[in-house]
Amino acid sequence: MDTRATDKSSDQHEFVDAVETWVEKELRPVARKFDLADEYPHEIVEQMKALGLFGATISEEYGGLGLSAWTYAQIVIKVASAWMAPSGIFNSHLIVASAIERSGTEEQKRKYLPRMASGEMRASIGLTEPNAGSDLQAIRTTAKLDGDEYVVNGSKMWITNSLHGQFTLLLVKTDPEAEPRHKGMSLLIAEKGPGYEVAKLKKMGYRSIDTCEINFDNYRVPKANLLGGVEGKGFVQTAGGLELGRINVAARGAGIAEGALKLSLRYAQERSAFGKPIWQHQAVQMKLADMVTQVEGAKRLIEQAARKYDRGERCDLEAAMAKLAGSEAGAFCAQEGMRIFGGYSYSVEYDIERYYRDAMLMCIGEGTNEILRQVIAKQLVERYRI
Ligand SMILES: Cc1cc2nc3c(=O)[nH]c(=O)nc-3n(C[C@H](O)[C@H](O)[C@H](O)COP(=O)(O)OP(=O)(O)OC[C@H]3O[C@@H](n4cnc5c(N)ncnc54)[C@H](O)[C@@H]3O)c2cc1C
Repeated sequence: MDTRATDKSSDQHEFVDAVETWVEKELRPVARKFDLADEYPHEIVEQMKALGLFGATISEEYGGLGLSAWTYAQIVIKVASAWMAPSGIFNSHLIVASAIERSGTEEQKRKYLPRMASGEMRASIGLTEPNAGSDLQAIRTTAKLDGDEYVVNGSKMWITNSLHGQFTLLLVKTDPEAEPRHKGMSLLIAEKGPGYEVAKLKKMGYRSIDTCEINFDNYRVPKANLLGGVEGKGFVQTAGGLELGRINVAARGAGIAEGALKLSLRYAQERSAFGKPIWQHQAVQMKLADMVTQVEGAKRLIEQAARKYDRGERCDLEAAMAKLAGSEAGAFCAQEGMRIFGGYSYSVEYDIERYYRDAMLMCIGEGTNEILRQVIAKQLVERYRI
């Protein structure tokens, strides 16, 4: 079933405005406090539930808002422009929801999607392992069928939302000997239970949100929780979510970039050196010009990819370019912002250092930018083969 929504109504624009108001009134003022304390923002999560963010892209049929990818990307940009971490709380969750909606059985959709849309149940996506990230087919976590249950052994690394979330969509090997390797891979809807141990990791950035290692020791999951009810489809089901996932990460990067630019613009007018505001120095002007050009360029690429996605067209090239541009814009603008703030960039009294700590993650997640450049080049040659 194609779950893509169109950007059909003015309701969607009103929703973006409502999110912007919430960001400025509720989120931005508390970001520094939660980030520096590395404390989970429970009150923010409750507000995100009330706004409907946990059901943003879930179809109305299953209790969500059914927003288009482009509307959703605009929301993510707004949230990340104030504080990127909370966008991760609903992003990973919605990647899982979209996988269940795309590939799950009707029973799985009815069981999980309405409770995910309300935020009552929140999900993480469990792909990466200590020894396998970019090369996902090298994962070692196994799931062996024993009667009506799978017995899972192995460990996952860097799994966001896995402490405060209720379940993870877990990539496992149901046939470790299969060739090609991806044919032995499956996704399980793994709710917490005995043998499912979560340990929170300490991170330099993307703080407050829970990113964890999960160890599975003879953990049992019902056979009914095999996504789509068929073994061997896990890798393809995971890849099916990459376009939307990359548009989302692109939007988070562009949000960081835009937020860093706004902070820098303000500071460059407030701070003086050599008898004039620093923005009047040509070196600072060049930074501001390069920053805004990257922000606007990334946003156009995100819109292009999201609108193509919403029309139901293949957009792997566009989504990869958007992810590359958005994440690199975030990293670039955060670093240029640090230079504009000079020594004060190192003070935790100013927000720019948080953008700097958060930005690089967008270059790593949802396919590293090295891998993304390969995807782009291969697609390019495929489309324009001589
Ligand atoms: C804070 C945080 C949150 C995360 N959240 C999640 C989550 O919720 N769920 C989840 O499953 N994962 C999550 N991840 C993991 C993330 O997706 C991986 O870190 C990422 O996919 C890269 O994998 P890796 O770290 O194993 O790096 P590696 O794959 O080991 O790569 C290391 C370096 O080698 C390069 N490289 C590898 N292969 C190639 C190649 N073929 N060609 C060129 N260069 C190559 C990479 O680009 C990179 O520069 C998270 C990571 C972090 C840091």
